[in-house]
Amino acid sequence: MNAEILAVGSELLLGQISNTNARFISSQLSELGINVYYHTVVGDNAQRLEDAISIAETRADLIIFSGGLGPTKDDLTKETIARHLDVSLEFDDIALANIEQFFAKRGRPMTDNNRKQALILAGSEVLVNHHGMAPGMILTKDGRTYILLPGPPKELEPMFQFEAKPKLGAMLNAGGVITSHVMRFYGIGEAELEVRVQNILDSQTNPTVAPLASDGEVTLRVTAKAETEQEAQQLIASKVAEIQALVGDYQYGIDDDSLASKTVEMLLDNKLTISAAESLTAGLFQSELAEIPGVGDALVGGVVTYTEEAKIKQLGISKELLTTHGIVSSECAAAMASAVREKFDTDIGIGLTGAAGPTAHDHQPVGTVWIGLAIGDEKPITYLLHLSGMRNTNRLRAAKFTCHYLMQLLEERGFKKR
Ligand code: ATP
Ligand code: MG
Repeated sequence: MNAEILAVGSELLLGQISNTNARFISSQLSELGINVYYHTVVGDNAQRLEDAISIAETRADLIIFSGGLGPTKDDLTKETIARHLDVSLEFDDIALANIEQFFAKRGRPMTDNNRKQALILAGSEVLVNHHGMAPGMILTKDGRTYILLPGPPKELEPMFQFEAKPKLGAMLNAGGVITSHVMRFYGIGEAELEVRVQNILDSQTNPTVAPLASDGEVTLRVTAKAETEQEAQQLIASKVAEIQALVGDYQYGIDDDSLASKTVEMLLDNKLTISAAESLTAGLFQSELAEIPGVGDALVGGVVTYTEEAKIKQLGISKELLTTHGIVSSECAAAMASAVREKFDTDIGIGLTGAAGPTAHDHQPVGTVWIGLAIGDEKPITYLLHLSGMRNTNRLRAAKFTCHYLMQLLEERGFKKR
């Protein structure tokens, strides 16, 4: 099956919004092993939309529409498809009830054009909209499948994921299952990871292995097709083991894990407390940890010591140390880590200092970062990074590398890791 995504909306062409729906649908389709060959965008114009449909039909057997299912005049996707396919529009009782309920709940009067949203293509199956009024649709005609989805991402994404995707999966694999598993890596570049698992990537059939890099992280999605869930899981498990033998050292988690969630999990599992003194990240490391519920049993507090004066006054770092070694230095990061650990009386202290950019700081080139990790009374360990991103990318990477090195160090010290 190969697909084309047809996004409808003049605001896309005017550059007012970006086509995140196409991106989302494409990533979902790749999980099903469906190739997407074209992304098309067309304005709210019936003739041009119909032309785009005709073109899509010459090169795709699955056409997925985004947008134009609303109540207003410029929403003309389903009317145009109905005309093009020569099928009628009929009222769907469940969709109509859903719309009426929507208005009743909000105590607002329902207008006639809202009723129009309950019209569906004859012969289509409704995709329920749990986050809005317009129902989606899936219709197969003359061997081609058409899926209509509403424009707002908060409606489209769950509708695709929970309503359309299982139906597509069933069509593709009558009786079988498709399961995937994401492996998450840090501290290794995408290129290096790909080289190391090259043989696996070159020879993949079932399971398939798809690499993806973003925000300094690399993931491998392992997807298997089989008759039963158990068989699919077995195929995945053996492929995962093969990959781990090659690059397992860099794997920090799976599926929805994040560096912060794994770090917090490890701190909580080992009943460890932590504090941080942050310069270039100005609280970002703590903010990343704070995204994880339950972190309050581990994260005690911290300080942002941005200037030299703040480092001296808040942390008691000596002026002499800063003059001799510099602010962006191993010595400064170590001193920050020790000082904050003592100040907050925690098991672990973190010190972060560096030149985020865009200009050099303390004679150190942009992207130079020192991370200090103090565990108990041990002499702090420091790590040097040479980052190559823009200012805020560097700040985020510094926070993520802190999680990465902290987990590594804790593991080396014998703390347990799930
Ligand atoms: P509504 O009932 O809200 O009118 P609709 O199905 O008619 O929904 P549109 O009118 O085309 O959809 O778009 C509604 C909103 O959804 C847009 O203003 C935009 O914010 C968002 N949207 C539409 N298309 C996309 C897209 N391709 N990617 C991301 N967002 C989109
Ligand atoms: Mg609309």
